[in-house]
Amino acid sequence: MHRITVIGGGFAGLTAAITAAEAGAKVTVHEAHHTLGGRARTADGPHRTNDGPHALYNGGPHWAWLRRRDLIGPLAPIPPLEAARLRLRHKGALRRTPPFAMLKLLRRGVGPAPVDVDFLTWATGIAGEEGARAAAHYCAVALFHHDPGSLSAAFVQERLRRAAKLPPEAHYPRGGWAGVVDRMAALAWNLGVRMETVSRVDTLPTDAPVIVATSLDAARRLLDDPSLTWPSGRTTLVDLAVRTRRGDAFAVSDLDAPGWIERFTAQDRTLAPAGEQLIQGQIPIAPHESKGDGTARAEQLLDLGFPGWRERLTWRREAVANGRTGAVDLPGSTWRDRPAVDRGDGVYLAGDQVASPGLLSEVSFNSALTAVSLALGRRELDLERA
Ligand SMILES: Cc1cc2nc3c(=O)[nH]c(=O)nc-3n(C[C@H](O)[C@H](O)[C@H](O)COP(=O)(O)OP(=O)(O)OC[C@H]3O[C@@H](n4cnc5c(N)ncnc54)[C@H](O)[C@@H]3O)c2cc1C
Repeated sequence: MHRITVIGGGFAGLTAAITAAEAGAKVTVHEAHHTLGGRARTADGPHRTNDGPHALYNGGPHWAWLRRRDLIGPLAPIPPLEAARLRLRHKGALRRTPPFAMLKLLRRGVGPAPVDVDFLTWATGIAGEEGARAAAHYCAVALFHHDPGSLSAAFVQERLRRAAKLPPEAHYPRGGWAGVVDRMAALAWNLGVRMETVSRVDTLPTDAPVIVATSLDAARRLLDDPSLTWPSGRTTLVDLAVRTRRGDAFAVSDLDAPGWIERFTAQDRTLAPAGEQLIQGQIPIAPHESKGDGTARAEQLLDLGFPGWRERLTWRREAVANGRTGAVDLPGSTWRDRPAVDRGDGVYLAGDQVASPGLLSEVSFNSALTAVSLALGRRELDLERA
């Protein structure tokens, strides 16, 4: 029987543990925190926030995998009346529809964008600069980057298509991602996975194979390998609760600069006490900008989409997520150029900044499956993604 050690009990570590245990391996997971889930945790207490706005995209490979195992649980669909309250800020005002030029980028006839060119240059050739900038900013919802137009055109185009798809790909597990994490942990447990929480690993175990399913920063320290880096986003997270008022926006997407604010209680009343609405936003900030700069832009969007929010405020929290929102690919690079899963000597990486395809947590999922396939010397697990 194969023995596998997994370091990190987030989405990647739990995916790896379940996959390896289903394939017959004896698995031990070490998680530094006292709870599992990593960045997929949902806060306890009356305001059930995820670590920033979180959606499960049903176009991703993890969707079918989770579904087959009954791990997604009940969803919180967006009522049509609420979905109709999606607003876009363009040229300083709120509007219901995107600028026409932006839509040119979503036409069927538009071919695949190049890897080597930045998105703004490529998209300007199709939609003009105004349409290109609006499209780049719209992608902030899945990019968390202060300058999406500077990233590889191919990388941003994939996110634009998925973020603008109808019906929407974004789905919301009722109660936040915690339910998914709990179900994954329960399945792992039932499969015989040994879960050690409050178990930070500071030295790589010598008995391979080992799957390092931490953030890339933590993996760099653990493997003492300075090459383990890849660009990511930096974004101000603003979470707040306000007293309910009819007519609030469902979400505001900023097309003048990257930014997204969403009222999560529109789809899931369980996330805040009765009479309150939970709003979560993320405003990407440049390296020279501060959390306060992001907060100020968030407040402009709140003023537009949620009139009187200051007087209605019941709870508020702010943070900066730096390098925690997954990989972004610069012009000339693709996911294949990121740190490889196979580190040699039976050590494998899984996480959202390593060499695997997908959007956000899908990279963690895909790399976890690859890591397990390689660790077990089994090719067929790759087929699970289809
Ligand atoms: C603001 C924000 C919004 C996001 N929105 C979305 C979204 O809408 N949709 C989406 O799909 N994804 C989203 N993501 C990304 C998603 O949260 C992550 O891709 C995913 O949770 C990463 O999982 P992971 O297991 O790879 O890493 P992590 O969740 O970081 O898990 C790593 C685990 O390893 C543990 N660990 C670290 N070092 C050690 C050590 N030495 N020993 C033992 N344990 C250790 C950590 O405690 C942690 O639990 C978002 C992320 C953020 C920050």
